[in-house]
Amino acid sequence: MSVFDLIVIGGGSGGVACARRAASHGAKVALIENDRLGGTCVNKGCVPKKLFVYAAHFKDEFEDAAGFGWTVGETRFDWATLKANKDKEIERLNGIYARLLTNSGVTTLKGWAKLVDTKHVLVNGETHEAKTIVIATGGRPVRPNIPGAELGVVSDHMFELAALPKRAIVVGGGYIACEFAGILHGLGVTTTQLYRGDALLRGFDNDVREVLGEEMAKRGLAVRLKTDLVKIERGGAGLIAHTTHGDTLETDLVLFATGREPATQGFGLEAAGVTLNHKGAIVVDEWSRTDVPSIYAIGDCTDRVNLTPVAIYEGRCLAETLYNNNPRMPDHRDVPTAVFSQPEIGTVGLSEEDARRVFPAVHIYKTRFRPMKHTLSGRDETVFMKLVVDRASDRVVGCHMLGAGAGELIQILGVAVKCGATKAQFDATIAVHPTASEEFVTMYQPHSPPARKAAE
Ligand code: NDP
Repeated sequence: MSVFDLIVIGGGSGGVACARRAASHGAKVALIENDRLGGTCVNKGCVPKKLFVYAAHFKDEFEDAAGFGWTVGETRFDWATLKANKDKEIERLNGIYARLLTNSGVTTLKGWAKLVDTKHVLVNGETHEAKTIVIATGGRPVRPNIPGAELGVVSDHMFELAALPKRAIVVGGGYIACEFAGILHGLGVTTTQLYRGDALLRGFDNDVREVLGEEMAKRGLAVRLKTDLVKIERGGAGLIAHTTHGDTLETDLVLFATGREPATQGFGLEAAGVTLNHKGAIVVDEWSRTDVPSIYAIGDCTDRVNLTPVAIYEGRCLAETLYNNNPRMPDHRDVPTAVFSQPEIGTVGLSEEDARRVFPAVHIYKTRFRPMKHTLSGRDETVFMKLVVDRASDRVVGCHMLGAGAGELIQILGVAVKCGATKAQFDATIAVHPTASEEFVTMYQPHSPPARKAAE
């Protein structure tokens, strides 16, 4: 039996970050992973997804080139090439993760971990002891409970498809659904997105949700709102999908992007006395402590803010607290995030709707315009930007953008919001010209909502 200061279960972004930071402070650390290192983000999420987004964008670039004098010859897309190159890159990243762990002095154990009790973990028939155990097992996609659901796929499978379908249905209106609808459409797949709600991306600012729907429609992406699937069966040349409206759609692929659940089953959490909530997520306090004193949990398995950089941050905060005498409580406010839909979205802070619930009065600044590039490309696409300002303090409490580069831009706006920048400070910032982002510092007039009609 080996004895460690810390055993981390799960080799995704959060687990690896926690293990390495703990080891850097002198802890003797083991990390257990059953699959490839890097977790969802590296292997079946953020990284390969973004590579696919780049691939999809070439369609626009080829089309836009003509207005700038370029003649683009015949174009053809080869899925096998993209997939092979993506696989090569993921393999490279898996190797980097392995080396980073080794170079940090972390012992990596490949196998399925099982908690024996609150301080012992069984892997490959061998029991290991640790003073502290960190659970970082992430999450996994879920399918709705409808007949024929097994005929559809989830996001994990999208990275391994043997061939690109001709037609696809994407079910859901969240991050993954919007991103994959854009990818498939961009790669030439006839794509229909079905969402049960009345605007995509529930929880985002309502203006952003509305503009996204409009811009996706302009691109020819069929989005059907207030529509869900009730059944899938084999038929026609592929699959027949039955909708809640009683009609059917013939398709080659159904992607269920209907949410993810915490991966907390099958490794003895209950036996160790760790409490799970009604969604199966590990219950932790603000220090990532479970109610078992030697066991902590970070990342998606705790269902706090389910984003890779947040898991990394939670892991590092925990390692600082436990092994560097530097107590750090993760702050989950004002987390910037991007949805790599087409057009993409960047957002940080509060939506207008949330801000109105929090502050007695808010000022809204917004603009929608055709970006300079499209004056020559001729593309009918607009950029949307919005600032939400607390009227009393003048603090910018929400920034939202839809348009090219939104993901890149929101990172920096996230710094401003985190620093508590005021609208006056935004206004005092000199614009960078000519850019789209200069609009964020030149929106002087608050938006006045249309006057309410007098009661008749
Ligand atoms: P989300 O929770 O974002 O969205 C799930 C979608 O599926 C919602 O539109 C939901 O509808 C719908 N849905 C849920 N259950 C059903 C059902 N039974 N039938 C039909 N529709 C259903 O989950 P995702 O899977 O898109 O992503 C999971 C998480 O991963 C995200 O929340 C995000 O934190 C993270 N992520 C981040 C990315 C990024 O940073 N760019 C990219 C991808 C994922 P409703 O709104 O009505 O509940």
